[in-house]
Amino acid sequence: MMESDVRKNLQLIESDLSGFSARLLPVSKTFPVERILPAYEAGYKDFGENKVQEIMAKKEELPSDIRWHLIGHLQSNKVKYIAPFIYMIHSVDSEKLLTEINKQAEKCNRVIPCLLQVFIATEESKFGWSPDELLAWYQTDGPARFPFISIQGLMGMASNSPHEAQVRKEFRSLKTLFDQLKSYDALPNSKMKELSMGMSGDFRIACEEGSTLVRMGTAVFGTR
Ligand SMILES: *Cc1c(COP(=O)(O)O)cnc(C)c1O
Repeated sequence: MMESDVRKNLQLIESDLSGFSARLLPVSKTFPVERILPAYEAGYKDFGENKVQEIMAKKEELPSDIRWHLIGHLQSNKVKYIAPFIYMIHSVDSEKLLTEINKQAEKCNRVIPCLLQVFIATEESKFGWSPDELLAWYQTDGPARFPFISIQGLMGMASNSPHEAQVRKEFRSLKTLFDQLKSYDALPNSKMKELSMGMSGDFRIACEEGSTLVRMGTAVFGTR
């Protein structure tokens, strides 16, 4: 794919998103710097990556005003590498991970914006909190224990299924949970603002179900 295609892809996606309130987060994982730069030059400053090592390498090669989002599973022992600069972690899937992020954020004297990843799919391989577990955690003031974390919303991945009704049902369940957790916005460290759901294959459904942030790789940069 040529670089000009990235710009063309972005324009197509932007027109698809018009009328919805979701913003596009380009997912640059596996793509080289030359492919990412046209998106940056088109005005995108936020990029999603799923591996700590890859963010660390690309960060050195790309403009310093890029806001890096970690969207993939994060191991506790790698938090220290990204804590100084990460703009948002979308994939916070356990209290153990929150504990480590909070600790590293304190060391860096900053508050790290996080989304809680909720398990909504039927597949077993996906990480995340269950909706019941998360509700129970809020009921016991979970977020209050993490002063160096700002929980800004939820992230979820729907089943990789051709059945639109199934995907829609899963996104809708995440939106319902998001709305329920909004009732805790007055308490410390948590405000439900971002609903990160939708990828290249299912972003239209996600937008219809209330996504605020769609994470798209292949639709922007081509097949991996
Ligand atoms: C790769 C990835 C995406 C983007 O997937 P595409 O199908 O390429 O749009 C979104 N979210 C997560 C968590 C990913 O790992």
